[in-house]
Amino acid sequence: MSEKLLELMDIRRSYPSGPSEVEVLHGITLNINRGELVAIIGPSGSGKSTLMNIIGCLDKPSSGSYLVSGRDTSGMDADELAALRRDFFGFIFQRYHLLGHLDASENVQVPSIYSGFKKDKRQERAQMLLGKLGLSERATYQPSQLSGGQQQRVSIARALMNGGQIILADEPTGALDTKSGNEVMKILTELNAQGHTVIIVTHDPRIAAHAHRVITIQDGIIKSDEINMEVPDHEPAVSDETDLRLKPGWANSVGAYLDRFKEAYIMAIRAMISNRMRTLLTMLGIIIGIMAVVSVVALARGASNKVIENISSMGTNTITVMPGERMGDVRSGKVRTLRISDLKALQGQPFVDSASPTIQSSALLRYSNQENNATIYGVNNEYFRVYGMEVAQGRLFSADESDISPQLCVIDNTTKKTFFPNEDPLGKHILINDMPVQIVGVLTDKEVAFMPSDALYVYIPYSTMMSRMMKQSYLSSIIVRIASGFSTAVAERSLVSLLKSRHGRQDFFIRSSDTIMKSISQTTSTFTLLISAIAVISLIVGGIGVMNIMLVSVTERTREIGIRMAVGARQSDIMTQFLIESVTVCIIGGLAGVLFSILMGWILSYVAPSVPLSFSAASIAVAVLTSSVIGVLFGFMPARNAARLNPIEALARE
Ligand code: ADP
Ligand code: MG
Repeated sequence: MSEKLLELMDIRRSYPSGPSEVEVLHGITLNINRGELVAIIGPSGSGKSTLMNIIGCLDKPSSGSYLVSGRDTSGMDADELAALRRDFFGFIFQRYHLLGHLDASENVQVPSIYSGFKKDKRQERAQMLLGKLGLSERATYQPSQLSGGQQQRVSIARALMNGGQIILADEPTGALDTKSGNEVMKILTELNAQGHTVIIVTHDPRIAAHAHRVITIQDGIIKSDEINMEVPDHEPAVSDETDLRLKPGWANSVGAYLDRFKEAYIMAIRAMISNRMRTLLTMLGIIIGIMAVVSVVALARGASNKVIENISSMGTNTITVMPGERMGDVRSGKVRTLRISDLKALQGQPFVDSASPTIQSSALLRYSNQENNATIYGVNNEYFRVYGMEVAQGRLFSADESDISPQLCVIDNTTKKTFFPNEDPLGKHILINDMPVQIVGVLTDKEVAFMPSDALYVYIPYSTMMSRMMKQSYLSSIIVRIASGFSTAVAERSLVSLLKSRHGRQDFFIRSSDTIMKSISQTTSTFTLLISAIAVISLIVGGIGVMNIMLVSVTERTREIGIRMAVGARQSDIMTQFLIESVTVCIIGGLAGVLFSILMGWILSYVAPSVPLSFSAASIAVAVLTSSVIGVLFGFMPARNAARLNPIEALARE
């Protein structure tokens, strides 16, 4: 009749104690058969719990061998031991060890999540077990809403959830009053009668008196192992209840894995909700980090877009010729070789679409009793074509007028608004310093690159500028618009060789809009890189915050982890749960960060419309991806710490 279920041979267990070790179990040899009801009795500190934990595969012996159903446990890894705990054992602890944030039914279901029951089956079975234990009305109660006896019955239901072939009860009545204690003992003897093997650890002889076999342990050795004739032995009943094997296929299937993942997800979300404030603060780090990154990238993109736009507004493709060897050449003022004849020669070239001298000066503008500073440009008729400027009113000056020093001018729209808010400016005479000029045209409003939009601009023929204002016979610079179909490089080369042959040497230098564009975009990208680096640092700081909080969370929930491990959670289950938590915090934080920065951009577009922001889908995707990577990276260490906890030590933590 007796079938060896558990075989312990010379089991020893020592704990480190300072530099040396202290042995708590001194060679326990013991067999327990299927269907037995065994009480292990002994004074406090005699090693009962230590032995029980070894029997339940929560702990490993320091030496000796332990076989469960003929299988040696010594070579098993953490997950194989977890599988044994899941499939064979059902634990009942003195302090119930229920999970506080789950209700009774959910607590009962925990072991079956790890063994891969389907959800409806799981709920049905939990309800059935709770019903049998007289708790059907209490299925949705939290542990804190239940009495000690009720909590212990919930934990018995949990022990039975996966079948509970072997029920291990460590001082199950220790925390209960006599009446509840008796109830629990009655349930345990009934379960034994139904075929469950039951092992009870107690220091109380009255409890031990319920058992058919009583093993007395003292100072880590078995003192006696006796049959109590007053309690009848049960033939091990063959009930399907004790042999509720799961289809092994399903437990390892993708479906079961997804189900476990879903459960882990729900657990993680619940943990986050129950620690709202902490979760929010953690998220804040990520929110700020992601906001910084997204906004900086948007700002940089916006700025460089604006710069490119500005440069294109300067004229599609232009080359400026200036005297001297380079920008800022101190002798350039003395170089007076750039002449009108050079301009005329350039105008005849096929690569030149249009060309104009530009002489710039600031002057005082006066009209009736008003005066204002303005920038005066001496240009020819082609200047307006180079920059794509158009008249809104009146006309531009002609090619002939450009050369013969007439006292004419074209004003920009700002000048019109300043001096002639309610008047038609055409035909009026305006004073530039003391020179009267007649207004012949008004330009359309056009944003000009890198120029403050509230400045006044007045354009007069270059000949007028040179002879009447500046008293100079040479040109300060020539601007050339390259004809379409010519590349900047070709145009530059031809221009340089033409002017060099005319001057006999290179006493000028050129700037093309292309090179300006290149150098500006280089500057902006360096700038972007720099701020991005700062933004990334803030993200890393956020990530460290996540790691910090996750470490705290693991420490705080050590007991929960221990309980989950005791009922059969794999290391990967624990790891998944904590990783999900950190990744979720980061993804939500990332999304919120993106949202806030878009919101900020939207507000900014009203408050400060001149600040260019350009959000790109790519940068947002990258931000969210980055935040999940941060979640994994910084959540990994705490999650691994959690998964590697020793179940016994974890359970002992309060
Ligand atoms: P019982 O359950 O019979 O009261 P235990 O098995 O809990 O006794 O403990 C037996 C002995 O082992 C005690 O002296 C206890 O101090 C010691 N002990 C238990 N757990 C540890 C541990 N993790 N580290 C060091 N000593 C321990
Ligand atoms: Mg104990």
